[in-house]
Amino acid sequence: MNVLVLNSGSSSLKFQIIATDLEQIKAYKDDRILRGEVEGIGGEAIVKIRYRKEPEKTLTAPVRDMGAALDYLLRYIASERSGIHEIKNTAEIHAVGHRVVHGGELFKESTLIDDRVLKGIEDCIDLAPLHNPNNVKGILAARELFGKEVPQVAVFDTAFHHSIPEQAYLYAIPYHLYRRHRIRRYGFHGTSHRYVAFRYRALRGLTREQTNIITLHLGNGCSAAAIKAGSPVDTSMGLTPLEGLVMGTRSGDLDPAIVGVIARKEGMSSSEVETLLNTQSGLLGISGLTNDMRELQAELTDHDDRRVRLALEIFCYRARKYIGSYLAAMGGADAVVFTGGIGENSPEVRARICREMEWAGLRLDAPKNQETVGHEGLISTEDSKLLAYAIPTDEELLIARDTVRVIKDEPHPS
Ligand code: ADP
Repeated sequence: MNVLVLNSGSSSLKFQIIATDLEQIKAYKDDRILRGEVEGIGGEAIVKIRYRKEPEKTLTAPVRDMGAALDYLLRYIASERSGIHEIKNTAEIHAVGHRVVHGGELFKESTLIDDRVLKGIEDCIDLAPLHNPNNVKGILAARELFGKEVPQVAVFDTAFHHSIPEQAYLYAIPYHLYRRHRIRRYGFHGTSHRYVAFRYRALRGLTREQTNIITLHLGNGCSAAAIKAGSPVDTSMGLTPLEGLVMGTRSGDLDPAIVGVIARKEGMSSSEVETLLNTQSGLLGISGLTNDMRELQAELTDHDDRRVRLALEIFCYRARKYIGSYLAAMGGADAVVFTGGIGENSPEVRARICREMEWAGLRLDAPKNQETVGHEGLISTEDSKLLAYAIPTDEELLIARDTVRVIKDEPHPS
């Protein structure tokens, strides 16, 4: 089954085509045919496409909206010039899997999209006003172009966290606010945490129930999850992705009174402060330079800039604090798993986070940590009581697999 995986943003559309089926999933023989991104939707868009292991192609085209982006993409794929011989027309795309950011309390697992489900996703717009509307646009565009016969599946960023108990998902605010407005912790990056947890147990030959780990997704957005007996019992992002770890441009945890203080002192509205905390804070805010970890590390090596060092220290300290608190929350764990652009590629950040964690039985193996970049592997010593792994995430693969399972009525688990 050729599954088109779509991740639609405000002006971008990330896509992959993965050929997979129940047998291929079991044998781990999923076949990634194509991947790429349309950037700059709404104007002259840049389309990057990589077919198998061929070099990436960059195309440009005027693309007015999500529908036009998908239409352009499908025409290109089916055209002679693409050189993609597996897919000669759109009928050879058998299903579409969508990344949907917020599933609220409604969606606890990946779900076949029908009118009722689409309405449910629209109902969650209130909870994720920046993300869900784009996801809805992606679903509608795919429906328009493929027709209702091609099944579409929604894979929610929040779904994996549905196992989190009340004590961890409720905030200590008047209970009626939860009842009236569903204000609670939902957590995000669920597909990524789920994928690396699945890879961890495959690497160690464990069952789901034997999986007790802390996963750290460190990318532009960053989050931690405490996974006990295979299911999350806590996670660092909350009602929105703003809570928790320090991120590229997000502050993560802070005293909620700060919102009012900034609003008063700077003459801003609360939603302007929220934007500041989401887009001008984190690594960017502290360093005053960039949200990009690679650039910050280069800057530190070249100039030893004080605020850059501070940004890195605050970022790593917060992550270490979360590991400590999750060890307490879970009653101990067997491993810490790093993923995301930073977690997969930065031995320096991993080492900084794991510094002085020997008390918890975590001892990094310096050479292994250094050489494990962009591929999976153990980065602690074998005899560490708390192991550490780096595992590249692959949300698209899980979305493709869930799409097949849901269509074949064999809902996960993975
Ligand atoms: P997103 O959350 O948008 O998917 P990624 O997971 O791609 O983002 O992570 C992006 C972050 O990863 C950026 O801060 C980038 O600088 C960082 N990163 C990527 N490669 C490296 C590297 N080799 N060393 C340090 N940081 C890296």
